[in-house]
Amino acid sequence: MTTASWFELVGFLVGLLFGSFLNVCISRLPEHESIVSPRSRCTECRHPIRWFDNIPLLSWLILRAKCRHCRKRISWRYPAVELAVGLWFAFVAGWLCRVLVGPGHPGAARDSSATIPLAADILAIAILGFLLIGLIVMDWRTKRLPDAFTLTGIAIGFGLLCVRAAFNPDGTGDIVLNTTRQWRMSGPGSFQSTGNVFLTGTEAMVLGRVAAILGAALILLSIRWIYRALRGQDGMGLGDVKLLAMIAAFLGFGGALLSLFAGVMAAAAYALLLLATRRATAKSKIPFGSFLGLGGLFAAVVGAQLLDWYLGFWR
Ligand SMILES: [Zn+2]
Repeated sequence: MTTASWFELVGFLVGLLFGSFLNVCISRLPEHESIVSPRSRCTECRHPIRWFDNIPLLSWLILRAKCRHCRKRISWRYPAVELAVGLWFAFVAGWLCRVLVGPGHPGAARDSSATIPLAADILAIAILGFLLIGLIVMDWRTKRLPDAFTLTGIAIGFGLLCVRAAFNPDGTGDIVLNTTRQWRMSGPGSFQSTGNVFLTGTEAMVLGRVAAILGAALILLSIRWIYRALRGQDGMGLGDVKLLAMIAAFLGFGGALLSLFAGVMAAAAYALLLLATRRATAKSKIPFGSFLGLGGLFAAVVGAQLLDWYLGFWR
């Protein structure tokens, strides 16, 4: 097995465990129940589930989707969520491997100053996927997007960006004023600005992300206000607003815009399909948060590939 396959396998197995925990969150958070106690129970007969019947994917297959005690069906949602988080973590682990090792340079250490920012980026993508998969399923099942995921997600995404910004090398990303007549050559073929620094790179990143979170929320709030003014009713919940702000906290404003675009396209395609097959009318509601979440996963994958392409210049 190659190094990358080992990373992906370990990522997949860790992802299955997190997927199992995510199933508990999905079942309990929209009902405002504790995710710690009581222990996992069958939703039909309330019989506690023992550890050997609670192994991700395997138990569902071995029990052939039936409770050991009451023989009632166990939803395919459980293995599907475990598999989705497993695949997401495998994707992130494969990315981590490419960043740490790089193709053709096994064991080659990268520039050590970039390690912590990259680790923060990769951790952010792993956590974002976990939260989005949970929110997609919760909105689909219950039309609810719990604050425990959206608001906590905004705090985590912004916190990791601050870690990333704090380790920004000096002078990168500074917003510099008054550069027109003050250029100094620092080496052959390169120039260094000696203008007045308006914002350091760290400040620019942190303030830029605050603006991204507020801007993303404001876009959906405006759409919500316009819809209410035109139709006299709410077309979109505040949960969707918080969800897009969360995506912006992790991916920045560009990532949030891409998520919104992809989410609207997917929701429109789904709505047209329902209308064409007469399974819905123009007044039916669709869980927009689920599509926004799918858009967020899409934007995260696109963003990761852009970063890979960018890192390619250093290989
Ligand atoms: Zn049962």
